[in-house]
Amino acid sequence: MLYKSTRSTEKATATSAQIIKQGLAADGGLFVPESIPELSMEEIRALCNESYPVRAAKILSKFLTDYNYEELLTDCTAAYDETSFVGGAAPLVDLHDNYKIMELWHGPTAAFKDMALQIMPRLLSRALVKTGEERTALILVATSGDTGKAALEGYKDIDRVKIMVFYPVDGVSRIQKLQMATQTGSNVNVCAIEGNFDDAQTGVKVIFGDESMAEKLNQNGYFFSSANSINWGRLAPQIVYYVSAYCDLLSAGTCKPGDSFNVCVPTGNFGNIFAAYLAKLMGLPIGKLICASNSNNLLTDFLRTGTYDRNRDFYLTMSPSMDILISSNLERLLCFTAGSEKTAAYMQSLSKNGCYTVEKEVLQKIQENFIGYFADEKATADTIRETYVQHGYLSDTHTAVAISAAKQYVAESGDTRPMVIDSTASPYKFANNVYRAVTGKDASSVLEAPEELSRETNTEIPYPLAGLTKRPVRFEKVVPREKMADAVLDYLNI
Ligand SMILES: *Cc1c(COP(=O)(O)O)cnc(C)c1O
Repeated sequence: MLYKSTRSTEKATATSAQIIKQGLAADGGLFVPESIPELSMEEIRALCNESYPVRAAKILSKFLTDYNYEELLTDCTAAYDETSFVGGAAPLVDLHDNYKIMELWHGPTAAFKDMALQIMPRLLSRALVKTGEERTALILVATSGDTGKAALEGYKDIDRVKIMVFYPVDGVSRIQKLQMATQTGSNVNVCAIEGNFDDAQTGVKVIFGDESMAEKLNQNGYFFSSANSINWGRLAPQIVYYVSAYCDLLSAGTCKPGDSFNVCVPTGNFGNIFAAYLAKLMGLPIGKLICASNSNNLLTDFLRTGTYDRNRDFYLTMSPSMDILISSNLERLLCFTAGSEKTAAYMQSLSKNGCYTVEKEVLQKIQENFIGYFADEKATADTIRETYVQHGYLSDTHTAVAISAAKQYVAESGDTRPMVIDSTASPYKFANNVYRAVTGKDASSVLEAPEELSRETNTEIPYPLAGLTKRPVRFEKVVPREKMADAVLDYLNI
C-alpha cells in the first residue's frame, strides 16, 4: 500500500513508514492511501472472537503493509494493554433502546486521543528504523486540550523522539492545563500561547513549512514530525474501534451479519468521523455518519450547504476539543469525493478567502454518507442532565453534543438502526461543567469539582485524573503566538 498527498495528482510513491515519519506532505496536503483495502463479512465475523489488540493488528496490517503482522501485534498488545485501558479499549455501553455509547476514554489520559496516541509513537519508532533515519524526531503538537496530554503520555521517554506541545492559554480546561503542566518524562516540553487553538495550529504549520528552521534543526541532528490528527499514524488506528463496535453488536445479537448501524461522532478536526468513513469504505456496514458539532458549527453548515466558511465568530464552549474553525481532516474527505485537483483548489481558497464551496455533485456524494447536527451550550447542558436523570448515564460535554445530535437525527429521519455514539472523554475531565449541568449549581471550585461530582453521582474518578492537584507543576511558560518558533529553539537549546 502506497500513499500520496491529498493535493497531488501524481502516482502514490510513499510507504506508510515514510508518511508516519513525515506527517504532512511537502505540498501542504495530507497523506491518503492509494486505495482502500477490503474487509469482508467473513473477516469481521472472525474478529468477533478476538481481543482488541488482535482486531487492531489485523486492521492495521491492511494499511501498513511495510510493517509485518508480528510487529503490529506486539505494538497493539503493548498499546491497548488492560492495565492502561482499564475496562477495555473501546467498550460499548447500553444507553437505552438502540442507542449504544462507545467509550473511547479508558486510556491513560481519560480521553479518546489515547486510542491513537498509545500506538502511534511505537509505529513512529519503527518507522525511524525502517527508513534508516538517524536524527531525533521533534514532535510538535498544537492542542485544544486532550491531544496534548495524550501525545505527551504516548511519547514520553521514547527513544530518539522529543515532543513539544502548544496550547491556547485560555482555551483548555483547568484540569487539562494541570494534566499537561505536570507531565513527567525527560523528552517533553509544554508551552501555552496567547491565542486560540487555530492560532496554535497555524503556528505549528508555519514552523513545519519554514525551511530555515528545518535547516537549523537538521544541523543539530533533529527533524520535525507531527502527532496531530493529520498524521496517518493517528488516523489509521481509529478505524479499528468502529470494526470492533460492530463485532460487539454482532456478539450481543443487536445486529445480524450484514445489518447496518449508524455512528454519531462529536467532531472537531474531522479525524474520528473520517476514520468511521474509511471503515465504511472498507466494507463495514455503517449507514449514516452523524457529524456532531457544538456552537462552532461550520461542519453542520458545510454538510447542509456545501460552503465551508471560517469567517465567523469563534466561541469558547464547554466542549473545547471541538472549538475549531478549520477541520483539517475534511481535506481527506474532499480528496476522496472530489479528487486531488479540486481539493487543492478548495484549500487554496480556504487559505486565501477563508472559505470554499464544493460543487453540487460533490455535496450530494458527501450527503449520501454524512449528515450534520449541532448542540449549543444550553442543549449540551440539558442533554447531560437528561441523560443522567433518564438513563443513569453520566456523559462528558463532548459526548453530550453527540447524544443531542444523534437524537435530532433520529427524530428527523425516523431511522431506527442501532446507533453507536462515540464518547470521547470521561465526564471527570470536564467535571465542573458536568457537575453544574447535573445539579444546577456550581461546585465549590474547579479543582474540587471531580470529588463533588463523584459524591453526587456515586461514580468513580478514573485513575489518570485522580490526585492531579498533588503532582508538581513543571511547565508554566506562556508566549505570544509569533514567538512559537523561538520557544522551539529555546527548548532544543540551539
Ligand atoms: C479531539 C476530540 C474530539 C474531536 O475529534 P476529531 O477527530 O478532531 O474530530 C472530540 N472530543 C474530544 C474529547 C476530543 O479530545
